Amino acid sequence: MAAAFTLLFFSPPPLSNKLLAANPRPLIPSGSIRSSRGPHLRCSFFDLQPEHHPESLSLPLDRHDPSGPAYDAAIIGCGPSGLRLAELASSRGLRICCIDPAPLSPWPNNYGSWVDELTPLGLPSCIDHIWSSAAVFLDERSAKLLERPYCRISRRELKTRLLESCAAAGVRFHRARALSVNHQEFSSSVSCSDGTKIPASLVIDATGFASLFVDYDAGVKRDHGYQIAHGILAEVDSHPFDPKQMVLMDWRDGHMANEPYLRQANLKTPTFLYAMPLDERLVFLEETSLVSRPMLSYNEIKKRMAARLRHLGIRVRRVLEDEKCVIRMGGPLPRMPQGVVGLGGAAAMAHPSTGYMVARTLAVAPAVADAMAECLGSTRMIRGRQLQARVWASLWTPERRAEREFYKFGMETLLRLDLAGTRAFFDAFFDLDPYYWQGFLSSKLSLWELLALSLALFRRASGRSKMDVITKCPLPLARMAGNLAHQYI
Ligand SMILES: Cc1cc2nc3c(=O)[nH]c(=O)nc-3n(C[C@H](O)[C@H](O)[C@H](O)COP(=O)(O)OP(=O)(O)OC[C@H]3O[C@@H](n4cnc5c(N)ncnc54)[C@H](O)[C@@H]3O)c2cc1C
Repeated sequence: MAAAFTLLFFSPPPLSNKLLAANPRPLIPSGSIRSSRGPHLRCSFFDLQPEHHPESLSLPLDRHDPSGPAYDAAIIGCGPSGLRLAELASSRGLRICCIDPAPLSPWPNNYGSWVDELTPLGLPSCIDHIWSSAAVFLDERSAKLLERPYCRISRRELKTRLLESCAAAGVRFHRARALSVNHQEFSSSVSCSDGTKIPASLVIDATGFASLFVDYDAGVKRDHGYQIAHGILAEVDSHPFDPKQMVLMDWRDGHMANEPYLRQANLKTPTFLYAMPLDERLVFLEETSLVSRPMLSYNEIKKRMAARLRHLGIRVRRVLEDEKCVIRMGGPLPRMPQGVVGLGGAAAMAHPSTGYMVARTLAVAPAVADAMAECLGSTRMIRGRQLQARVWASLWTPERRAEREFYKFGMETLLRLDLAGTRAFFDAFFDLDPYYWQGFLSSKLSLWELLALSLALFRRASGRSKMDVITKCPLPLARMAGNLAHQYI
């Protein structure tokens, strides 16, 4: 098997300009990219304060009633993961209490997703903008056009929809911070910052990446990678992007021509621009380190972003929102089973190679709700360790755990690539049959399909890229093979 895994690499066919040559209209019209030299293009947008302070949602929510019976489940955290599970579990007849200091606060993160990941979830009203395609700029001369619609999720709409369903199904809410969880043999209790104790048969931790309630095995190395990014929703004088295309990744580094320090650092640990043009003057821009370990400095990201916007001639008039994005990627899974069941960021569900997670969590939640209903429903009174084990197992099935090893290997590979290697990777990756690259990005490939993807990438690999794998990746490769063997034997 190890031999097969060594095939998981690629290298580009020589940097062609296939796509641009085939497309008379460049993805970014060159005439609209202005020089970085003009004094009027100085970037001072970091001094601008974000102007949007979205109002809290206004919905009637039922409060936790201390005199009522114990809950089937207490869900800590009203992010996308927690509310989706609350909605689904309550619609299956379970008594649910959600705990969050501010359940009606708007979500702060800007979420993007492939449209085909959201469509099956029946959430069309929760999309606020669709681009018919996405562009990937590899360098100044070549780019890929991905014919796969991409969308920006309406956070407000999605949260409202989930809260409304929860309210309709009788979910109770408690406004407080959860501090600790105590377990008895067949029940648990969540202690909150206001002194309240919330009793429940099962406790779900949906508090995101900073989770405090889910444990990891003591001996296991916490070798996460980190995605770090700085994003702004900005009103600009103008921007060079085609409004019908979002920019998934722009790896060009022309903006560093006069910045030797930035260029050197970027050659080693590259960052890219992610851009969602909403109209001619409104654009979401995010300079992103796909994955780094240790985490790339936030300051460095901001300096690169300033240089890039200057080069693209983007003058920021107003910052409407900003976000510091830190996503924990890869690393070990939490200990399983354990008393508290994790979900979303708290259960290491972010895609180890991309950091995406929202659509995936929304899609996996029904299986978790089914497992909860099967155990806690009126006909089957399964409690305690058996309940926790079944719910964990519905989340991290053996197949998903095995596939995650592959995606983790993808992350370990990306961590070892410099700018040239990264460009080579994505050049070959997006040349694959869309079934494979789309399936990889959406965590939809089976283990065998992931092996087939490796073979297809290998067919495109240059000798240098094969050498890269042999010299830079033997340890992660061996670790992946070992982990897979451990799971199957
Ligand atoms: C800036 C940013 C941008 C991202 N963009 C994307 C994207 O475009 N697409 C994508 O797929 N993924 C994206 N992600 C990754 C991931 O999807 C998000 O982090 C997502 O919000 C995780 O959802 P969650 O429900 O697990 O946790 P969160 O959204 O972090 O929600 C956690 C909730 O728990 C509450 N909480 C925390 N501690 C406690 C406590 N002790 N007691 C009670 N409540 C508590 C918080 O108040 C919060 O409401 C992004 C992440 C970040 C940080």
